[in-house]
Amino acid sequence: MHSRGAMLLPLVGAFLVSFATAKDLPVCVIGAGIAGLKTGVDLEAAKIPYVIVEGNNRIGGRVHPVKYEDGYLQYGATYINGDNNPIYSIAKANNLVDFEATKEADDYQSVFTQDGVIEGCDVHEFAAFTDSLSEKYKQFSIGGRAAEPFTEAFDKNYKQFLKKKRRASRKSRFDKLALMYSTDMETEWAALMSKYVLANYEKWDDGSKDKIEYTLNKMGFKKILDVISSTIPQNRYKFNSTVTGIDYSSGNAVQLSTSSGKIDCSSAIVTVSLGFLKKHAKTLFKPLLSKTKTTAINALGFGDMQKVFLVYDKPWLTDSAYRTIGPSTSTIFGRGLGFDITAWSKKTIQFWFSGPAVPAVGKLTDEQLMKEITAHLKSTLRNFTVPTPKRVIRHMWYQDPLVLGSYSYLTPASVALGDANAMLAEPISGTDGKPLVQFAGEATHSTVYQTTIGAFLTGEREVKRLISARNNKS
Ligand SMILES: Cc1cc2nc3c(=O)[nH]c(=O)nc-3n(C[C@H](O)[C@H](O)[C@H](O)COP(=O)(O)OP(=O)(O)OC[C@H]3O[C@@H](n4cnc5c(N)ncnc54)[C@H](O)[C@@H]3O)c2cc1C
Repeated sequence: MHSRGAMLLPLVGAFLVSFATAKDLPVCVIGAGIAGLKTGVDLEAAKIPYVIVEGNNRIGGRVHPVKYEDGYLQYGATYINGDNNPIYSIAKANNLVDFEATKEADDYQSVFTQDGVIEGCDVHEFAAFTDSLSEKYKQFSIGGRAAEPFTEAFDKNYKQFLKKKRRASRKSRFDKLALMYSTDMETEWAALMSKYVLANYEKWDDGSKDKIEYTLNKMGFKKILDVISSTIPQNRYKFNSTVTGIDYSSGNAVQLSTSSGKIDCSSAIVTVSLGFLKKHAKTLFKPLLSKTKTTAINALGFGDMQKVFLVYDKPWLTDSAYRTIGPSTSTIFGRGLGFDITAWSKKTIQFWFSGPAVPAVGKLTDEQLMKEITAHLKSTLRNFTVPTPKRVIRHMWYQDPLVLGSYSYLTPASVALGDANAMLAEPISGTDGKPLVQFAGEATHSTVYQTTIGAFLTGEREVKRLISARNNKS
């Protein structure tokens, strides 16, 4: 790619391209995550020239399979939400869904604490209470409580739950179950429970009837990436090219500044994470983004959720998943730690961290982390002989400069804006009224944000938008 505009910038303060030249330039897709890949696939099918500019040296973004034995562990996306979406269709068609493991993942769990195991009727009673909460919070949201944080609603409901007869005497056990449940929700939504709001229960919808989270087999998202990207020729990718500037000031073309040089584009489709936009939007775009767009970027939440795999010599746990709570003074274990056994490699355990535990885990070396987790397991799983793990496998997403967190969620501020995801998705038009800078990626989807499904659908949406504008001659 050449850099025609670079010489003009100091003179006129804008990158200029003639209309005739602009339309011959490629569409620049920024990011090779699921949204960028689906964008590429559809541009390829429409025979529209394009280039996918990716800061990393690989495709996938937050879908990050890592080779392990004869399969792949997933640093990022692992499950598929529901069966009524294109990602599930790909998984089903390629025999990637592990239905047995999916069923096990639904089982209720006892909670192991330093003071003993909470199990039996305490857990059943508490599970019966929490089972109804998603639907309840959806109705609360519809009924005018959309901006209410989860903690507020949950605290009230939990107090009512405790009022029923013979529960007060079991309060300390229920308190621990309530804490574990809140931490599970926080992990699920990748958001502090004081920040994510009931609107999430209303707006988020994977479009399926049963809302099942499907577990995949050892090929999982590796195969899904292969299938999605299969029609994109290698020469369409420009890897190791971090975009540092998106100049659309000419009004009829876009010039990217990247770590490997300038790229002239007919238009751009930006698929970078909301985390990246939050940190860099102010310096990334020229001219600056509109107030509306900036407000949406600031208002939407971009959370932290983190998984860590520990590998042991051999399997040593009997169930498929566990819940534990350490002392309240511990930032990492005090609010509860859930973990599950990898269905296809039983000696590999996946630990889930959320909230303040994420940066606390981020500060530890692998050696320290193995030591901390082992001590925690010894003090809570007292009826097991806890072995020493061999190694840690993890990718700290909040430290990844091209992601800066895990995924998006609705906050009180975003609810106040109406549909903040749609505001983020709104394209910037050029002087001809056609889309010049478009936005895709999970956070730009109003119902399946957070997911690979949302990412995929937004890539599809933006290419449709582009084609429809190009076909519209007016
Ligand atoms: C730990 C974790 C677990 C998850 N679990 C699930 C799950 O079970 N199921 C599910 O459906 N989803 C899950 N998700 C969410 C899912 O991974 C994301 O929603 C989805 O992959 C986002 O895709 P995207 O294309 O929108 O963004 P990304 O995957 O973030 O892609 C953006 C791409 O842009 C690149 N990029 C960023 N900035 C620049 C720049 N300046 N220049 C060039 N390139 C740039 C990045 O490197 C990246 O490749 C999980 C995410 C995490 C972190």
